[in-house]
Amino acid sequence: MEPLNRRKFIAMGLAAAGTAAIGNIAAPLEGFAAESHLSTTGERAFEFKQDPLPYPYNALEPSIDARTMEIHYSKHHAAYVKNVNEAIKAENLTYKTAEEFFAHASSLSAKVKNNAGGAWNHNFFWASMKPSPSAPSAKLKAAIDKSFGSFDAFKSEFTKAALGQFGSGWAWLVWDKGMLKITGTANQDNPLMDNAAVKGKPLLAIDVWEHAYYLKYQNKRNDYISAFWNVVDWEKAAERMG
Ligand code: MN
Repeated sequence: MEPLNRRKFIAMGLAAAGTAAIGNIAAPLEGFAAESHLSTTGERAFEFKQDPLPYPYNALEPSIDARTMEIHYSKHHAAYVKNVNEAIKAENLTYKTAEEFFAHASSLSAKVKNNAGGAWNHNFFWASMKPSPSAPSAKLKAAIDKSFGSFDAFKSEFTKAALGQFGSGWAWLVWDKGMLKITGTANQDNPLMDNAAVKGKPLLAIDVWEHAYYLKYQNKRNDYISAFWNVVDWEKAAERMG
């Protein structure tokens, strides 16, 4: 993480003062910074941040190799965060919450939309995985059985979405009105966006851009998806149900 510069430090101070003054405000969505910057009109806007990786680069070996993790996190993800924050400033966007930001996805510039998605989706993705085995909670398991028939049927449908996503994109498990759904999104879109085909609260995601697996798996996306199941953080997915 780069050290805080003076401008950001000042903005964080203002954000903290604002929070204290406003009092009980809704917590930001996971993956969003509680910090902000001032636009040229003096309005406070969201600034995306790159969450620290919750484990070392080599922690998910052999399922996901250290070199891929390092490049993915320190180059690809870092670039999305840098680019979206630059674009937010250049375009004087003043959205104040994550919900507001993605709720306006269809009217954002391609640069903001793609990089905002990239910034948020990767924070979500890193936190969706862990080195030690975990299992769905009883509540999540019951929701999986109710929505898909069985855990194996869910896995099969999720794999199909991940494998079938043409080109770059993501597959998601989302929670919507008491049911679980699976959807794929192109590029850096996500199910929180106003123009998503399937909307809902994301519980789990897999990045199926080639940069996520090509070094180790080359064209064998199926092998990467199979390995992903070894490192899913099911406790986190259950926690995200709320
Ligand atoms: Mn990626």
